[in-house]
Amino acid sequence: TTVGLEMINVSASWDEGIVELFEKIKRENKANGHLTGDDGLFFTNLYVTPVLKSINLRLEEGMMLAVAGSTGSGKSSLLMMILGELVPSEGKIKHSGRVSYSPQTSWIMPGTIRDNILFGLTYDEYRYTSIIRACQLEEDFDLLPDKDKTPIAEGGVTLSGGQRARICLARAVYKDADLYLLDAPFTHLDIATEKEIFDKCVCKLMASKTRVVVTCKLEHLKRADRIILLHNGDCYFYGTFSELQAQRPDFSSLLLGIEAYDNITAERRGSILTETLRRVSVDE
Ligand code: ADP
Repeated sequence: TTVGLEMINVSASWDEGIVELFEKIKRENKANGHLTGDDGLFFTNLYVTPVLKSINLRLEEGMMLAVAGSTGSGKSSLLMMILGELVPSEGKIKHSGRVSYSPQTSWIMPGTIRDNILFGLTYDEYRYTSIIRACQLEEDFDLLPDKDKTPIAEGGVTLSGGQRARICLARAVYKDADLYLLDAPFTHLDIATEKEIFDKCVCKLMASKTRVVVTCKLEHLKRADRIILLHNGDCYFYGTFSELQAQRPDFSSLLLGIEAYDNITAERRGSILTETLRRVSVDE
């Protein structure tokens, strides 16, 4: 089998801007009891905190990886690293080439909805229609004056957060790639739509594609081929869902014990997962 994505012992840090660095030096000096005049700069204990530490994972082509973890644990940074925007300080990343990325914050450019999905690529009716259906956009288009040819511009139709999210997902899926990175694609969607899109688009339509999906939903973790759980930049767990239950029993039973966890909004799920990870990592 061919490797879809592999990380071997990867660590990375975001470069700190010079202003932040200067502020940090001043704080460190103050904490160490040094004077903080302009001529009193002491460079002590200055280090850049890694955002990701010793990450190992391996996906075969066509596999789905679910990336979960606490807030600020490095989930988006992991995707930025695959994109090449965050360069590893250590380790190796391998993947098979063309990447399509759907960012956490959806964006729309002026133009028609269709332009926003095609984003410069040629219109292929079959491909386009199956994606629109899988992203639950058909019914939305039926309500618009010119369907998907309705221009989105200032003073024109305003889209809901959920519509924007689904258009951005459709754009990422329309692009032909070897690896798809979907950063929290279900934010702003109601539970029913999230369920439909995960099933029809991420699992079925994209079944043969290598996928990296940032999500904290248990149902998604169960159906993913591999799970990576991040906490403070560390890999708290990597493996399958049954391995998670075996290797992290406290964490698993805490989360599985929260009734309706999967049926609350993605944002609140994130907070609960953060708190759960904090508790279990303190206990260890
Ligand atoms: P998560 O997606 O798990 O919430 P992030 O990867 O967004 O976590 O953030 C992890 C850490 O990296 C945070 O401390 C955040 O401030 C920092 N970070 C994220 N993106 C950037 C960036 N583009 N430049 C500098 N620091 C960043």
